[in-house]
Amino acid sequence: MARTLGGSANPRTPIIGGNWKMHTDLATACQLASEVRNRTGALRSVEVVVFPPFPLLHPVAERLRESRVAVGAQDLHPAPKGAFTSAVSASMLTSVGAQWVLVGHSERRQVFGDNDAAVAEKLRVALNAGLRPVLCIGETLQEREAGRTFEVLARQLDTALQQLTAPALASLVLADEPVWAIGTGKVATPAQAQEAHAYIRQHVAGSHGQAFASAVRIQYGGSVKGDNAAGLLQQPDIDGALVGGASLDAEDFAAICRARAGG
Ligand code: PEP
Repeated sequence: MARTLGGSANPRTPIIGGNWKMHTDLATACQLASEVRNRTGALRSVEVVVFPPFPLLHPVAERLRESRVAVGAQDLHPAPKGAFTSAVSASMLTSVGAQWVLVGHSERRQVFGDNDAAVAEKLRVALNAGLRPVLCIGETLQEREAGRTFEVLARQLDTALQQLTAPALASLVLADEPVWAIGTGKVATPAQAQEAHAYIRQHVAGSHGQAFASAVRIQYGGSVKGDNAAGLLQQPDIDGALVGGASLDAEDFAAICRARAGG
């Protein structure tokens, strides 16, 4: 269904991502991948991506080969190779079938200490490697309560995007993920999420031009489930969802995909 933005048709294909975080194992990841493929394969008007843990990327990619469900990684290291014990490079990811990568997820920022500069570097490396990045941004509860939401979003966008031109960012997807809504069951209201997304689009119009801003897809993330997805996904500046907990249940995840695909 085409929506209108300032009078013109909205060409943005909705995109739903499933971030499996540090969940599943070989058997359950393969089963989940098959179930997601079976339940979402017929949906033509929505793009679907799953983000398994590193060791499960290849088997999941094999399961999803020839399907409409793409595979992405949850992080990457910016170096091409070297003495970085435990780290995973962009070329390793593409070699095992990853097409997408999450960059700057709040758990990377908060638990592993990825700062804005590290996120910017990872984004640049991902793009150079041909990986399609999902850049995650979002404010903490403290920042929201202090009235600093837009300031935080602007800072995270600017530091990540400032060295990159609009053409270089053609494959970028943004994910607005208020930290207070991730894994907490506290979902932003459709109005709260729309307000943040409209701000993000306006901000990137200022930095990278109106054409880029009108085309870039902005996902909402934070406790999205089958029963709250429709209200969020109907908003004019919400182009999909990044889903954590509910993506581990193939039927709940498929319900979110259907909510945006229109049934
Ligand atoms: C996430 O991990 O990006 C996320 C949004 O998690 P949840 O849906 O569990 O809040």
